[in-house]
Amino acid sequence: MSDPHKEFEESILNITQYSGSKEAGIKRISASYINSDPLVVYYRYKYGIIDSNRIGANTLGSLLHLGLENLEIENVELEKSIEMEIENDWIISATIDYINFENKTIRDFKVTKRYTYEKFNQDSDYAWQLRMANYILMKNKIIDAPYKMYVSMFLKDPEENYKNKELSTLVYREVDPVPDKEIEAKIKALANEVDSYINGSKKEQCKDLWWRNKKVNGTNTKIPMRCEKYCDYKNNCEFYSKPYNPFTPEEW
Ligand code: SF4
Repeated sequence: MSDPHKEFEESILNITQYSGSKEAGIKRISASYINSDPLVVYYRYKYGIIDSNRIGANTLGSLLHLGLENLEIENVELEKSIEMEIENDWIISATIDYINFENKTIRDFKVTKRYTYEKFNQDSDYAWQLRMANYILMKNKIIDAPYKMYVSMFLKDPEENYKNKELSTLVYREVDPVPDKEIEAKIKALANEVDSYINGSKKEQCKDLWWRNKKVNGTNTKIPMRCEKYCDYKNNCEFYSKPYNPFTPEEW
């Protein structure tokens, strides 16, 4: 009997796939990659964007974005894509979910968990993503001074009694600005490291792989969740190998 869910899942996958350029060989650092390990940026350069063939961790976020694109708010621009060239043929780019020109605010929407909200810090990927977006907006003269930055998190697991307050499904964190030179230094360090990989230098494995204990076939096993659940390049990655490979998601 044919799978009754297949057609439905394929339509969801179709509308939630990345719609920008997926080509390989483009030296691009998007804002969501600014805090990434160089290895991931290198694989993105080498293999381009890989379409997902299953509903994954990011699908819910993509669905939310599709809905939010239809918001109509005065003085607000949604899903604005911008980019600029920097040194050595690198392009930096960002898609800003929400720009409010009236109250001078930018926002990034995330679907995430309470843990991420609670552990949010100013060195997180989310914070750097917004700083880089603000930076490119300024350099492109779309705004004339840095805007306030907020991460708007839609929680999948809101919970009551968080520090004696009810935690809503939609919560916010403000991102502190940093001087431009800090952002520029971060971009430059990442681009230089990836350039060295492109030129044949020894690559380094990503650092924080989010190791978690899981039962696999009845055995306690340490799994690098970041590779397993969130990395599109694991099948091309020279560091992704036994003892934790291969597992199918169904075995978790
Ligand atoms: S599979 Fe793991 S180590 Fe390899 S690029 Fe992905 S996250 Fe990094």
